[in-house]
Amino acid sequence: MSNVETHPSELICESTSGAAAVEVLAPRDVPLGGPRAMTVRRTLPQRQRSLIGAWCFADHYGPDDVSVTGGMDVAPHPHTGLQTASWLFSGEIEHRDSLGVHALVRPGELNLMTAGHGICHSEVSTPGTTVLHGVQLWIALPDAHRDAPRDFQHHVPEAVALDGATARVFLGTVAGATSPVRTFTPLLGAELVLDPGARLALDVDPAFEHGVLVDVGAVELGGTPLTGGALGYVGLGATTLHLVNTGAAAARVVLLGGEPLGEDLVMWWNFVGRSHEEVALFREQWQAGSERFGRVEGYPGDRLPAPPLPGGRLRPRGNPPRG
Ligand code: MN
Repeated sequence: MSNVETHPSELICESTSGAAAVEVLAPRDVPLGGPRAMTVRRTLPQRQRSLIGAWCFADHYGPDDVSVTGGMDVAPHPHTGLQTASWLFSGEIEHRDSLGVHALVRPGELNLMTAGHGICHSEVSTPGTTVLHGVQLWIALPDAHRDAPRDFQHHVPEAVALDGATARVFLGTVAGATSPVRTFTPLLGAELVLDPGARLALDVDPAFEHGVLVDVGAVELGGTPLTGGALGYVGLGATTLHLVNTGAAAARVVLLGGEPLGEDLVMWWNFVGRSHEEVALFREQWQAGSERFGRVEGYPGDRLPAPPLPGGRLRPRGNPPRG
């Protein structure tokens, strides 16, 4: 997916005060553009928190009736310095990229694209899709690997039965399951479905910070209710995450985690860089059709032009200290 805001602005991170055990990050609605624009709920990045581990972007969308919203049609657009993780709950998306990959993104299947030095891709929901529902997540690459070559990994995790829940671990290790998918920093990504009334105590790595994004249902994280598509954040040091489904129906969440990246990023549009000058160069290279990004074959239409840079310098964002 692309960040298709017409005038993407930078976000300044401010210190949070009186940090609670669980910090609730509310989503904001962002239209993806187009005549019948689908809207996504963005929980990362935002003013109070830019990153969870190396996770730097979280868009949650649907369930959308594509006969009403028009579904997803994101023309070829570039990325640098990141990986995109696509995870669907329903529907199907056709992915094409400048590595030459033509893949279908399906529910319960991880598609992890490494942009590294530069890539471009298109994403279109398939004609057979009636309900589109999923998340699009970005992972910032550490400085040592952010120029990595383009790559694409696909993985279908097995469902792990827990007491009152089912886990699908698409990155990292939790609930006794480990994903074979390679990452550049220690990361965790999993879908959890909780039965009504389920109380789940998940052992997690205290060297990770974690986020729980609620897809459907009434879920408490560490006693804090997460409603309306919120993402609950738990900082370093937690050894157990306590999740409770307080509702009468099944609940579904996406669990994210990772070791803090510890690097300041300049994120603008679809680029992750380290300085204003670098991001301005990426933009210029995309506009000029540079080989940095290559070409997408088979997309019926034009590629997305980059929006104008905002006035003033893009400033780096990191994370506020806890406490
Ligand atoms: Mn994209």
